[in-house]
Parts: sequence; structure tokens; C-alpha cells
Amino acid sequence: MNEVIKKYKLRKLYKSSDVSAVWNASQNLQVISHPQYGLISPNEYRAKYKNKPCPYCGKKMVQGQQFYSTTSRQDAINRGYQYVDKSGNKTINQAGRNFFHPNYITLDHRTNKARCPEKLFDSDNLEAICWRCNNQKGDDNSFELQHTCDYLNSLAEEARSRYPKL
Ligand SMILES: [Zn+2]
Repeated sequence: MNEVIKKYKLRKLYKSSDVSAVWNASQNLQVISHPQYGLISPNEYRAKYKNKPCPYCGKKMVQGQQFYSTTSRQDAINRGYQYVDKSGNKTINQAGRNFFHPNYITLDHRTNKARCPEKLFDSDNLEAICWRCNNQKGDDNSFELQHTCDYLNSLAEEARSRYPKL
């Protein structure tokens, strides 16, 4: 029987490190009640999106540490894992000693988990996005809105260029 994490307990967490600890410890527990997939773990949820396009950048999301991570920074650079982040710095996704592919799948909380811990495992608050986009997003809850806005602007731009005024 899996440990069940009750919402009233989640609500009492207020330190972001506590929230992260619960999240990290629950990766293989069936704590997400998904309307389509039933009761699944965060790892199972994440795996559903393997090889699917990231909803933000459209790049194929990858999974599988043996193929998409390395312990050597130089190897990561050779593999093309390095990219320029929103601050203009060269960066490589890193967890522990491993460097990861930029489009490795992550599970993002639409509403920041530290701000709203009771939504930690709500399927409608979870979204599979690539690590790079997750980095860009950071803690910024306006990211999604801004992204939508950028996208609409680019559509408008394209429409203008395609259909010049007569
Ligand atoms: Zn992405």
C-alpha cells in the first residue's frame, strides 16, 4: 500500500525545501489522480510524454539517463547540451554530478509548488515541459501568459508579413 499524502498535510508545509523534499520523495509513489491514467506516480506521468513535443518550444522531449546525460562537462558540450539561458549565460542542465540534454522531460507545477503546496499532486497543476523551458520559467507564474503573448505576437507578425497592405 502506498503512502497517501493528504492535502491537509500538504497545506501545512510552508518552507519550499519541505515542499521539494515531499515532491522528491514521492517520485515513485502513486500520488497523482489523473482523469485519464488513473492513479499514477510522477515518474509514470513524466514517462507518458517521452518523445512528445514540449508545449513551449516544440522540441522533442527525451528521457533515459543512460542516453541523455553524462558526468563529463566536456562530453556534454560535445553532445550539444549547452545553451544560452535567459540571462545570456552559457548553461547545461545539471542534477548532482550529471549533465543533461536540454530537452529532458521535467514535470512543472503551473502554480508554483512552494506557493501552493496543496496542489503539489493535482494533475491539472502538472505539465510535462522540457528542462530548458522549465529553467526559463523558473518561479515566474507569468511565464505562461508571457509565452502565449509572444506566440500571439509572432502569429500577428507573420500574418502582417504574409498579407501586406494593398
Ligand atoms: Zn521546451
